[in-house]
Parts: sequence; C-alpha cells; structure tokens
Amino acid sequence: MDTCVTQVILKVASRCNLSCSYCYVYHKADSTWKQQPALMSDQIFAVTIERVRQHCLFSRQRSVFIAFHGGEPCLIGARKFDAWCSEARQTLSNTAVSFAIQTNGTLIDWEWIRVFSEASRERGNQHGRTARS
Ligand code: SF4
Repeated sequence: MDTCVTQVILKVASRCNLSCSYCYVYHKADSTWKQQPALMSDQIFAVTIERVRQHCLFSRQRSVFIAFHGGEPCLIGARKFDAWCSEARQTLSNTAVSFAIQTNGTLIDWEWIRVFSEASRERGNQHGRTARS
C-alpha cells in the first residue's frame, strides 16, 4: 500500500473578504464555518506541520506540497504566511517542501509580492544546492 501523502491542503482561514453569490461555502445550507475559528492559530499550524513531518518519516517520502486554502488564505497576512513557510521548512528539513496559495487575489499587495518574490528566490537557491550536491 502506498502511504505517501504528497499534497496537504491547509484551511488557514474560514472566512473570506468577498461574498460571491455562487460560493458553495457561504451561500449554501452548510453554515458550520460560522462556528470555526476565523483563522488557524500558530499552535494548530505547528502541530499540523509536525504531523506532516511524522508522516513523511513513516512513508519515507522525500517531498510534500502544502497548499494554503480558505476561505481566503491571504487573511492571515503576508508576514504570517512568510513565518509559517519558514517554520514548515525548518520542521520538514529532511523533506523537499513546496508551497502554494489558492487566493481570490484581492488582498495581494506589495508586501505579499515581496514575500512571494523572496520565497521564489529561496526555492531557486534550493534547486541550485540540489543541483550542486
Ligand atoms: S472568493 Fe471564493 S471563497 Fe470567497 S466568497 Fe468567493 S467563491 Fe467563496
């Protein structure tokens, strides 16, 4: 049995800054999102990433893909996103980890662009290190 879990979707925000009329989350019968915390806490993030680390160890997989999802994941703020990606890279230091964010794009500002740009540079450096090793 293949035990690899190569993609992890983190619902880091249960709210959205928009209210699209067709949205299946906020305009259908299931309104349980109202009872959920608006944003994932640092503690839950840390525990989740540790669980991912344990699974990667168990399954002996060398890589994992983590997607930030919501609601609108940009509600956590660019600094938190940056800090959480760094924390995940550190915790998953024996695993090649890549990140994505599924966003409606309306909250992307220069701070987010700076964070994405630095993350992209760091990823390039990682590839460079891999290529040399
Ligand atoms: S942007 Fe997405 S999550 Fe937000 S209200 Fe629209 S469809 Fe729903």
